[in-house]
Amino acid sequence: MTVQQAFRYELAPTRRQANLLARAAGTARFAFNWALNLARALIGKGLPVPSAAELHRAWNVYKRENAPWWDEVSKCAPQEALRDLHRAFENFFASRQGKRAGPRVGFPRFRKKGRDDRFRLTGAIRVGRRAVKLPRIGWVRTKEETTKFRGRVLSATVRREADRWYVSLAVEVERPDARPANGGVVGVDLGLKAFAVLSDGMIVAPAKALGRALRALRHRSKAHSRKQRGSKRRRKSALALARLHRRVRNRRQDFHHQLSTRLTKTKSVIVIEDLAVKNMVRNRHLSRAVSDAGWGEFRRMLEYKGKWYGCRIVVANRFYPSSKTCSGCGAVKTELPLSERVFTCETCGLVIDRDLNAAINLEHLAQAV
Ligand SMILES: [Zn+2]
Repeated sequence: MTVQQAFRYELAPTRRQANLLARAAGTARFAFNWALNLARALIGKGLPVPSAAELHRAWNVYKRENAPWWDEVSKCAPQEALRDLHRAFENFFASRQGKRAGPRVGFPRFRKKGRDDRFRLTGAIRVGRRAVKLPRIGWVRTKEETTKFRGRVLSATVRREADRWYVSLAVEVERPDARPANGGVVGVDLGLKAFAVLSDGMIVAPAKALGRALRALRHRSKAHSRKQRGSKRRRKSALALARLHRRVRNRRQDFHHQLSTRLTKTKSVIVIEDLAVKNMVRNRHLSRAVSDAGWGEFRRMLEYKGKWYGCRIVVANRFYPSSKTCSGCGAVKTELPLSERVFTCETCGLVIDRDLNAAINLEHLAQAV
């Protein structure tokens, strides 16, 4: 079975290479924003969004007339950015027409310098023991040893996060055919107090290290907003803030990786809720916590690792009342305020933790499907 896997390394570019990377990111961003402007103008006139190929042609004409030297960066970076834009439009329209699962996708946004410093390359990408070869840029050293893998590198995405550069390789690797684990079925209720409650009674606490990093991040962002715009202090604090963001992102990712690997390796079926339901909770404090929890990313990991390890992922229909149903007798409550942490059934008298009740209902759902 061939699957796509990502390998991510921190780069240690020379000064000249860092310069080239920054330029490629700048060109990709420029092309993306230029095409988004063009698409917006067309949509404004009631015309359809151009295809990726049409965008390329228009971009080539624009480039020839305005900035022929851009080719030295690699044609690929802007081309791939135009593809990203086209995909962003497809996702937006599919989401608006209800043809796409998951949270709603908004209208494509402009890429911002400092936030969206990234570009993708395809073509002859090679991996050495401690270096990655990128088209037009050459061998760039990595800070750690690269992983040994057998497979075809499909693309390389280079990204700047604060003051560091990372490369993420999309690789097509051959994996042994997944054999189904016989760990049975588990329902997973994702929450905020506990990251997850499993139907077998296990409670997964949110990552402690992540909590610490998040508190530091909130503290920092408050301090940052007090710094005067354009000042040297503000620039310094922006860098510190970006570093904290990176730390939070990495810790969260580690945590999600560990849990999703453990679950998909040991269970044969995992049932989770449609997370769009939870995202619909329009409470300001809560929605902050929801975006911090990164459920969408966790679900994505479950889905691709499920394929690797032979574990089926079932997503409950968004109208399935996992919280309001009694896991003992099946009676459904009409109301259940979020503040009620214990589920009490008036029909059969069951008293059970609210999240555990939901998780058990999700587990039952797998047997029903
Ligand atoms: Zn009951």
